Amino acid sequence: MHKMTIDDVDFKGKRVLLRVDYNVPMEQGEITDDTRIRATLPTIKKLLNDGASLVIISHLGRPSGKVMKELSLRPVAKRLAELLEKNVEFLQNCVGKDITKRTKSLKPGEIVMLENLRFHPGEKANDENFSAQLAKHGDIYVNDAFAVCHRAHASVVGIPKILSPACAGYLIEKEIKYLGILLEDPPQPFIAIIGGAKVSTKIGVLENLLPRVDKLLIGGGMSFTFFSSLGLEIGKSLVEKEALTTAMKIWVKSEEKGGKMMLPVDVLVAESLDEDSPVKTVEYDRIPKNLMGVDIGQSTIQLYQGTILEAKTVFLNGPMGVFEVEKFSEGTKTILESMAELAQGGDIAVVGGGDSAAAVHKFNLADEMTHVSTGGGASLEFMEGKELPGIAALSDA
Ligand code: AMP
Repeated sequence: MHKMTIDDVDFKGKRVLLRVDYNVPMEQGEITDDTRIRATLPTIKKLLNDGASLVIISHLGRPSGKVMKELSLRPVAKRLAELLEKNVEFLQNCVGKDITKRTKSLKPGEIVMLENLRFHPGEKANDENFSAQLAKHGDIYVNDAFAVCHRAHASVVGIPKILSPACAGYLIEKEIKYLGILLEDPPQPFIAIIGGAKVSTKIGVLENLLPRVDKLLIGGGMSFTFFSSLGLEIGKSLVEKEALTTAMKIWVKSEEKGGKMMLPVDVLVAESLDEDSPVKTVEYDRIPKNLMGVDIGQSTIQLYQGTILEAKTVFLNGPMGVFEVEKFSEGTKTILESMAELAQGGDIAVVGGGDSAAAVHKFNLADEMTHVSTGGGASLEFMEGKELPGIAALSDA
């Protein structure tokens, strides 16, 4: 990693302005999953052990630049305090005289959390004045919010222009390490598995990975756009009509590279996405007009599993089917289980963020993977080979 990390800096007596991603799911003021808070504990503990005081900043939801009571970070501060078994003082704004007065008086070991950054339009607009006000809260900037690193927002790229050094926390360091291996030096054979609903959101990833991988396995809803582009009947399956030409071009490119891309050889079909809908397995070119593909079939599972288990590096982004419905989840579950097996044997299995990460957690396989990315859009853009503004903004090592 060519960027400074928290292991490169002396934090003794310093006020650290720490950007985290505490955009946790909430229902009626209660946090329903605190994974994102727990994920930052190693960075927080390291900074406190080193003698820093902390000013924690984050966004929550989409308040569109206005104060929305239900999107306050107050419950998150409470949960962090419970997890750390330490006092976390919550301040009712993230900028302003009173807030700055308090953050300037912090003593080593003290922690404050500021209110939702996105209550101010300056956050998303990357307003210079807003960044300058935020920067007053710290001596050193630490970013541990990988999930927002693809956004040029004030707290992501504005503050590090003002505060130096600006360094990566452990979460970001781990993301760059493992996603970086995939693009730079993956042990061979390297297999990518791309699924999910749409081809259009993953064109960049497919194109960037195709020359790098030994095999590219396709699953999920996007398979049907590929099938349709090849002139096959797909019944009522999901299809992106506007992506048919692109899908065809990617397929042709893959054929020119020796047929690296593999499409499902059979499909689980149902009448609807309803849990009670009867299902059956059909070959890929026998999808009935009145049914829709909801998961990969057994032969595909076996074919893909065999390919995965022969690999040394596997990356997955996107589920193999509608995994949220138990009956349609077997493909996603078994493919993830094979990846976990690979990782347990010492090889590399990395899962891209978003829905794929949700699937890994649902099947309790997160701890068995080499790495599960915390960023949906950020990990996609990284895998497209794009430079993430939030990473680029950090100080060079
Ligand atoms: P993405 O965000 O593009 O990775 O897409 C994830 C979503 O794709 C999940 O919510 C899945 O339910 C959905 N999905 C996967 N396979 C299918 C399918 N065969 N038909 C419809 N939706 C699907």
